[in-house]
Amino acid sequence: MKIKFWGVRGSLPSSSSPTETKEQFALLLREFLDKGYKSPSEIDTFLSEKKLVDISGYGVATTCVQVDGDGQTLIIDGGSGIKYLSDTLAQNRFAQKEYHILITHFHFDHILGLPFFAPHFISGCTVKYYCVQPECEKIVKDLFQKPIFPVGYEDLKADIQFIKLSPYEKRYINGFAVTPYLLDHPDPCYGFRIEHGGKSYGHAVDTEAVRTTAEELGKDAGLYENLDLMYIDAQYEEDEMKQKKGWGHGTFERAFNLCGNFAIKQVYVAHYDPSATLQDIQNIKERARIAFEKHPAKETTTWDFAYETQEVELK
Ligand SMILES: [Zn+2]
Ligand SMILES: [Zn+2]
Repeated sequence: MKIKFWGVRGSLPSSSSPTETKEQFALLLREFLDKGYKSPSEIDTFLSEKKLVDISGYGVATTCVQVDGDGQTLIIDGGSGIKYLSDTLAQNRFAQKEYHILITHFHFDHILGLPFFAPHFISGCTVKYYCVQPECEKIVKDLFQKPIFPVGYEDLKADIQFIKLSPYEKRYINGFAVTPYLLDHPDPCYGFRIEHGGKSYGHAVDTEAVRTTAEELGKDAGLYENLDLMYIDAQYEEDEMKQKKGWGHGTFERAFNLCGNFAIKQVYVAHYDPSATLQDIQNIKERARIAFEKHPAKETTTWDFAYETQEVELK
């Protein structure tokens, strides 16, 4: 199974401002010279010594994840990242004819890219939506509506279907076993445990992760147990949670607690705050690194902060 993150921002697509980009550019140039490099021929060497995220950041787009296994694909959520996924499908001239989109919930950052998912407009394509909440069909239809979008739903060329999922009920979708679980989020929001080829992926975005133990989670513990990979919301830090309680977003501390409690092998955090600059995310990551060194999850788990276009292969 392979997971690709097409959008890792929370709440709103957000890029560095022109001033921040200029500052980042100046910082890289200073670092290039400080390291004793002088020649343009050394630029590639200098850049190869740095992580991609420390050069150009974590990305702009909101939530969209692609899950691949044995040539089959699932898509989770249609934030603005689904537009970039759609662009790669266009390069293949939409050779694939059937698309499967799981929807966690309808907050705007998770659906705003759906009108830009090109298979909707292609005759012969089928787009299947899977969701626990019964209002999925109405909400998707309302996105394609004049005057908020120039093409009405009735003018779409694809065969579009809506399939209702039930919480805690495993269902086979395009070769993947998918089970929805309730997350800690207003309005409500469902995470998905996806199993394929003996590997498991837990999608836990958006969640405040108020419940992190088996006792607190009850039936929802099934989302986390012994996952090979968990992808989870860590928009905030613990010291902000007093003001942001009930907003539905978690922290890296809570992610690490889930990893420790459920023997999760690997975790990627995401759903970065739209106000967070590259420097802010780097600072949070450094605090996460320090916290993790003392955390019991260190024994079983590896962790990182997800970035846009990153691929993680589960072998
Ligand atoms: Zn969100
Ligand atoms: Zn949300």
